Amino acid sequence: MSYFAYQNGVLHVENTPLTTIAEQFGSPTYVYSKAALVDNFSAYAQACKVNGRDDSTALVCYSVKSNSNLAVLNLLTRMGSGFDIVSGGELLRVIAAGGDPRKVIFSGVGKTPDEMRLALSHGILCFNVESTAELERLNEVAGEMGKQAPVSLRVNPNVDAKTHPYISTGLKENKFGIAYDEALATYRRAAKMPHIRVVGIDCHIGSQLLDDAPLLEAFDRLTELVDQLTEEGIHVHHLDIGGGIGINYNNDQPVAVGDYLGRLFRKVDEWRQRRYQGAPIQVLFEPGRSIVGNAGVLLTQVEYLKHGEAKNFAIVNAAMNDLMRPAMYEAWHGVQAVTQRSSEPRTYDVVGPVCESGDWLARERALAIEQGDLLAIMSAGAYGMTMSSNYNTRGRAAEVMVDGGKLHLIRKRERASELFALESLLP
Ligand SMILES: *Cc1c(COP(=O)(O)O)cnc(C)c1O
Repeated sequence: MSYFAYQNGVLHVENTPLTTIAEQFGSPTYVYSKAALVDNFSAYAQACKVNGRDDSTALVCYSVKSNSNLAVLNLLTRMGSGFDIVSGGELLRVIAAGGDPRKVIFSGVGKTPDEMRLALSHGILCFNVESTAELERLNEVAGEMGKQAPVSLRVNPNVDAKTHPYISTGLKENKFGIAYDEALATYRRAAKMPHIRVVGIDCHIGSQLLDDAPLLEAFDRLTELVDQLTEEGIHVHHLDIGGGIGINYNNDQPVAVGDYLGRLFRKVDEWRQRRYQGAPIQVLFEPGRSIVGNAGVLLTQVEYLKHGEAKNFAIVNAAMNDLMRPAMYEAWHGVQAVTQRSSEPRTYDVVGPVCESGDWLARERALAIEQGDLLAIMSAGAYGMTMSSNYNTRGRAAEVMVDGGKLHLIRKRERASELFALESLLP
């Protein structure tokens, strides 16, 4: 169900009108529905449960980069989530939010020695290693600490996720992962390294996937590798299928999480029966967008309307620095007037005040609006706030979590003085 709906002509988040949020906290503001977050995570948790899984056989490791607010991480921690991180900073966030480092996996192509030390000192579940050079560095760093680093290799299964090129990561030409044909040799090397402990295999083929067929294909390719490894005496304890399930931005129909997990677990069981007398393997998931994407909107206000010969512009107080996805991927976000008007709609480009032609949030939308009206940029919960910047010395938006009729300010709006507080004048 949607937790963002009109009641008496006013767009609400759960039981709270967005007008109330603008009055109390101003705009631009990211507004999240706690119930939507809980529902989205529960879709994964329930699917694990109905397929007879517990933490030892299935673990959901929420992708922190999609939305890393402490309140979001804390809520997911309380629901039993693990975490997929891509930096040392994200690990510190997870810990600050009460997350368990033993449920943390560390992805990313460029881990520094400092980040490796930090993760090793906190005893994370696994490093998803993306190159031989990284493997060698990790072996060294772990050795200096007198530890063994738990490792999965991120294998590039070379399947086409059929999504936007910028968010497709599983093809040969991507910078991510270890080529399928080199995986076996790299595992052999890893198995011989004294400070590396091979524990798993990993992939992540892309994002905003509407169909699970490419994921199931990637799974088959990983199992072939696991079988070859087993024959050589290299045993993996978990298989990480990555994240990537899409959400509805614009009449998209993503596969239901329960259906995907059901199909995947059936394949897991069939494979384990066929090859391992039914001995279980732990399956890891790294969802981001499908948990937070539809749980948040960006609330913004119309500063000016500009009616021209060729185009009409609604100039709003949110910009590309607040929500980068349209500028970066030409992403489509729904735009809804918070208060419905009966006047004839006109066609607008919704743009921000930043000095870039790429600073647009939506194009060619029919809207019945006036100066001062509030707009909600829909489905902005994932890769919204986390990708925001201070370009044009714009303080980042506030973040509010709605819980029924209760409002929680989970991040204050940044003030300009805070933006240059770390800078100094020349002597
Ligand atoms: C970004 C990312 C994810 C999350 O992807 P979604 O499409 O948001 O589910 C998972 N794993 C890795 C390695 C990532 O880089």
